[in-house]
Amino acid sequence: MSKAFASQADLEEKQVSFTQLSDNAYAYTAEGDPNTGVIIGDDAVMVLDTQATPVMAQDVIRRIREVTDKPIKYVLMTHYHAVRVLGASAYGAEHIIASQDTRDLIVERGEQDKASEIGRFPRLFRNVESVPAGLTWPTITFSGRMTLWLGSLEVQLLQLGRGHTKGDTVAWLPQQKILFSGDLVEFDATPYAGDAYFKDWPQTLDNLAALQPQKLVPGRGAALTTPEAVQQGLAGTRHFIADVWANVQAGVAAGQDLNTVYKQTYAALKPKYGHWVIFDHCMPFDVTRCYDEATQYPDPRIWTAERDTQMWKTLEG
Ligand SMILES: [Zn+2]
Repeated sequence: MSKAFASQADLEEKQVSFTQLSDNAYAYTAEGDPNTGVIIGDDAVMVLDTQATPVMAQDVIRRIREVTDKPIKYVLMTHYHAVRVLGASAYGAEHIIASQDTRDLIVERGEQDKASEIGRFPRLFRNVESVPAGLTWPTITFSGRMTLWLGSLEVQLLQLGRGHTKGDTVAWLPQQKILFSGDLVEFDATPYAGDAYFKDWPQTLDNLAALQPQKLVPGRGAALTTPEAVQQGLAGTRHFIADVWANVQAGVAAGQDLNTVYKQTYAALKPKYGHWVIFDHCMPFDVTRCYDEATQYPDPRIWTAERDTQMWKTLEG
């Protein structure tokens, strides 16, 4: 029997955790579903990635209101993916912040990405009718680095290199050595690399590691609350990306077509990573993008709902 497209057969609701990392930092996680970070300053709250719909974001707001009544003034989009940004309107934030590279990607492919992601993973877009028409636009963009002071709390927004996308932004609390990595780091969850830069991602992870985070909120999976756990998260993500790249490059060097490379890479990685959530979902997209990068496409091609299903039929049909 062929596999159901992407995650259309994934219907099981996950258990939410709201983990306190410090007086100022919390992680809203859900067993491998997309995470949301929360930073509470002296006078305002920042939300990092919004959940996929305004209705889903209401549950984040409910958790925030259990610990503070300060206004939610800032939303940070770590990158452009729909599952991270379409809940933004629920927070009523004064400012929505993203890198200029992320804004460029929203301009270029935001509409296609929205349709594609909703089609791939309907469960992650609960009450999708609550998403306003159009796209989520940043009101503030920056390049490279930006510092916000939430009263006495310093929040650095940093682009430390390309990886999961071209526009990846991390948030760093230097006083507490807590890092919010977005999808650059995953834990017990398969990195989605359909829009990735495989050649850059390992160096970007080195740049994250150089900050020496004591705690880290990954894009998916549990909050990492010790330096050892942070190392594990960084290493796991790095090994997965390096293993996909090595297998795909060997196939390309041997003159193999995408289908052959996919089947070989899947078989090679399944024993090591098959227990991570969304492994079967991610692999066709990841290998397709990696094959593109190893051949003739330095930049990720735009995924459309049509391209998604066509690719799936070719590799999994
Ligand atoms: Zn993403």
